[in-house]
Amino acid sequence: MDIKNYIASIPGFPKEGIIFRDITPILQDPQALRYVTDTFVDFVKKTDADFVIGPEARGFLFGVPVALECNLGFAPIRKPGKLPRESISVKYGLEYGEDELCMHTDAIKPGQKVVVIDDLLATGGTTEAAIQLVEQMGGKVVGCGFVIELDDLHGRDKIGDIPVCSLAHYA
Ligand code: IMP
Repeated sequence: MDIKNYIASIPGFPKEGIIFRDITPILQDPQALRYVTDTFVDFVKKTDADFVIGPEARGFLFGVPVALECNLGFAPIRKPGKLPRESISVKYGLEYGEDELCMHTDAIKPGQKVVVIDDLLATGGTTEAAIQLVEQMGGKVVGCGFVIELDDLHGRDKIGDIPVCSLAHYA
């Protein structure tokens, strides 16, 4: 299956000069959703992961079905002010300013091996923050899965030698 047939490209959203890559057509099609889920499941099984995490909000959409199919648990990575229990946070740089991501402190157990699933890898800032959160809790990221990778932004440079599975590449 060519998964690009299920990714919509919207020029000028959310602002001028940006082409937004929209994965919602995948969710609308059971075969495309099955293809993405199965591809990530095969990838996760090749790692020795025992847990899945995903950043809000689109990381949840793919991370939870993958975790379920692999018989693993899932924990969310969220923006500040969303998680109700004791949390840790990591700040990371954006083009202009900085952002922050949080996880519940009991989400990852020391020694746990974790896969990060998200819809899109751009600069890698989100994934780098996710890796730091996992490491702060004593875990280790053993794989990262993305539906889309924007190659020209070189997000992989922030992921180092952790195995990456990307289903569709755009410049
Ligand atoms: P990064 O931190 O620069 O790698 O950006 C990745 C994060 O931004 C992911 O969590 C994506 O959901 C989101 N993102 C950035 N650009 C797009 C896009 O074109 N479509 C969908 N999500 C995007």
